[in-house]
Order: sequence, then structure tokens, then C-alpha cells
Amino acid sequence: MSKELGFSNQDIQSNQFLEIITGNSIIENSKPFAMCYAGHQFGNWAGQLGDGRAINLGEIKNWALQLKGAGPTPYSRTADGLAVLRSSVREYLCSEAMHHLGVPTTRALSLSLTGDQVLRDVMYNGNSAYEKGAIVSRVAKSFLRFGNFEIFAARNDLKNLKILTDYTILHHFSHLGNPCKEVYLKFFQEVTNKTLEMIVHWQRVGFVHGVMNTDNMSILGLTIDYGPYGWLEGFDLGWTPNTTDKKHKRYRYGNQPTIGLWNLYQLANALYPLIDEAAPLEEILERYQRDFKTESLHMMRSKLGLTLAKKNDLLLIESLEKNLQASETDMIIFFRKLSDFKKEFPEQGIKLVENAFYKIDEIHDNLLNNWQQWFSEYAKRLKEEPIPFSERQKKMNKVNPKYVLRNYMAQLAIDKVETNDSSLIEELYQILKKPYEEQPEFEHWFAKRPEWARHKVGCSMLSCSS
Ligand code: AMP
Ligand code: MG
Repeated sequence: MSKELGFSNQDIQSNQFLEIITGNSIIENSKPFAMCYAGHQFGNWAGQLGDGRAINLGEIKNWALQLKGAGPTPYSRTADGLAVLRSSVREYLCSEAMHHLGVPTTRALSLSLTGDQVLRDVMYNGNSAYEKGAIVSRVAKSFLRFGNFEIFAARNDLKNLKILTDYTILHHFSHLGNPCKEVYLKFFQEVTNKTLEMIVHWQRVGFVHGVMNTDNMSILGLTIDYGPYGWLEGFDLGWTPNTTDKKHKRYRYGNQPTIGLWNLYQLANALYPLIDEAAPLEEILERYQRDFKTESLHMMRSKLGLTLAKKNDLLLIESLEKNLQASETDMIIFFRKLSDFKKEFPEQGIKLVENAFYKIDEIHDNLLNNWQQWFSEYAKRLKEEPIPFSERQKKMNKVNPKYVLRNYMAQLAIDKVETNDSSLIEELYQILKKPYEEQPEFEHWFAKRPEWARHKVGCSMLSCSS
């Protein structure tokens, strides 16, 4: 990221750089600011929020630079404006990992300790404790959120709603043309497409954002605000890492596409005063649902190495998902191993992926039959494909990552850095830069979640406390 911004190695080792990314001094002639936005949180209107702990330093080569956790802003409300090391490590590693996975995301430039002690109640159960404070400097073309548009609409401040929307179009969607009613609609269509594309990527790699509130939805369709996110281990459409959402599981893996749409409805409402016609907005929202089905099918075909579109593919995919879920199957290992599958030997399928099963002893009778049946259907389907084994394998390995930031991996890096040893952060950072490559020296990270991490805070259970 530093190279992209034009910094040399010398620059990033300078004291001046350190002072800037830790918020001790500001870039010459710049005017740092925090943004005001609103949001719908967990399905309810939450009113005004804003950058409570993010400070925009300015732009470098059209990239906006923010500090997260550098202290109070006018929007901190009753909170401290700080961030703890634990959540900063998670944001730093995961946002970079996502970038290298090919998922649209904000980036991370640096991670630093502040020397502050920050009080947090990790599980909201009355056990507050001091933790180390940290700052992530993060980078994006824009940090605007759906909530930035919602705040003006809610205040009926149409003048500023128009100024903001026109600004966004001129700076980030200029190919759409000069702002006018038609262009506002095109803008909404494009934000819809980008949001859809981002969520299809999440589903592909097994990422669960955890807090898809409208204030956490980027207008550029970037994954933003890494909080209690998590990675699927056992494939489970009902899984959410966020314990704050334990009861309704609004933001569970399988619900992310629907929530994306729900959030787009809120954005449509916010933009409505500029357009003054509901039908074309509704049409775009309806199209999202159709497009999602198409794009999702396309994505799942690619995970299975299918290049042709055949009528029964959806059935094949649905029965696979049923099996994956019924047998607690590690999503990453399963799809990665599947690229070794040979259509001539369907009976070897189970053996090939057995490492992906968390409870191999439970795979018998019906479940075993279902799997055997699935592998023979899959083998039959592969026989219709024009590409040879080696080409399919190559294609599959480009969409099915070998290395992701498993929940327990982040936690191990956090535990280590708490003892002033950042070596694991560095190791994971290097691995996650090449998630689709084999990297035999790191094969030990291509493994199921260890049992100790199954119910551990920070691994399977995360809260919004950060
Ligand atoms: P989040 O759930 O992290 O997206 O945060 C929701 C809102 O709370 C945003 O407006 C944040 O800026 C604000 N917020 C979260 N943590 C803090 C904090 N420690 N200090 C100030 N504001 C915060
Ligand atoms: Mg947020």
C-alpha cells in the first residue's frame, strides 16, 4: 500500500512518517476532519453516528488516508475515540488479506501501538479490563458510507444531499456523466452492482462481516469497518461470529445477500428526494435479486470448475451445500482439495476431502450415501466439460483460496503481540499476500480449526467491543 501511495522505503522508515501515521503531527497544509453520518443498526434507525474514532488526514494521489483509534472526534459521543490492539491487528491483517483475495476492501497502511491503556468489556459481561491501545492507518479511494447520504435525507437537508451526491458522482463515478436525475439513477444502479459484487466475493471466500449496518456499507462497495467479522470454518449458512447478534443472527453468512438488499433500500430512500420517482429505484432493487441469483450461480460454478452453464447445476450446488452443512465441513479445505478430484474415480471423492470433515466418524449411513451420490453426480457433470483436468485445477485454485485468516490464526497473532512479539503478524501477513498459492513452508496453516478454538473468545465468539 505504501508503494501505491508513492512512499519509498526510506520515507516509511522516517520519523516524520511515524509521527503522521500515529497522529502526532499532521501533513503540511492539510486539514484533518471527521465525517458525520447516520445509520440503520440491526434493522433500526439509529440516527446520527459519525466517525467516532476515525480521523481523515487528507488525500495522497487520490487515496484518502484515515487514522482509526487516534482519539476523540466531534462524533465520539460518550466513547473514547480509541481502538484496542486486538481489534486493530484483526483489521490490519484482514483488510490486506481481503485485498489479496481479490475482494474489494479498504486497505491498511500501518499498525502502531499508542502507549495508551484502553478500558474495554470484551464480552459485555461486567468484566472490564485495560488493554493496549493501537492505531491502524487505513486507505481507500473514499470512506463515504450509505449513512453519509442517510443523514441529510433524515434531516431533510436536500441542499447538502445534492452537494454530497454530486461530489460523489464527479469524483468517483465521473464516467456516468454530469449529475442529473438520470445520472442519479445510474449512480444508484452502480452502487447496487458494486455492493452485489462485494457480497458474492464474501460468499465465495466464506467471509462473514458481522455488522452490516448501513453506516458500515461503503458507497464504493468496499468491505469496510472490520469488527466482529469471522471466517466460516464448518460451512454453515446460519453462522455469525458476532455474539451481539446471537439471538436473531441477522448478519449470518447465508443472510448477507438479503441484508445487502435491505441496506440498498435504505440508500434508495435517502436518494429518493433527488429522483422523486419510486418506480425506477424499485426496478433496480428488484433486479438485484435476479442478478444475485445469476452471479451467485456463476461464482459457485467457478468454485466447482464448471465452465459451461447446464440446467441442473443449481441442483448440484444445492445438494452440495446441504451435504457440506450436514457434515460440518471446512469450507476452505473442501474446495481446495476438490480441485484434485478426477471424474474417472468418483468413489475416491470422500477420501480426497476427508481432511475437511470436523467429525469424520459421523460420516456414515445416509450422510455417506449422500456424499457418494454427490460425487458421482459431480463426476457425471464434469464429463460434459470441454477443459482437461489440469486446466480445471488451475482455474479452481484461482477462486478457492488455500490460506485465509482463520479466526484462531488472528487470535494467535494477537496473543503473541500482546507479549511484544509481532513475528506472527508478519508471518501471517506474508502468507495472506498469496492466498491462492501453495506455499509448502506454510502448509501447517492449511488445517482445520483446532478444537481448543471451537468456543474460545476471539476465535468463535466476538463482540462489537473494540
Ligand atoms: P461500529 O460498530 O464499529 O461500526 O461503530 C458504530 C459507531 O460507533 C460509529 O459511529 C463509530 O465511530 C462509533 N464508535 C465505535 N467505537 C468507538 C469508540 N471507541 N470511540 C468513539 N466512537 C466509537
Ligand atoms: Mg462502523
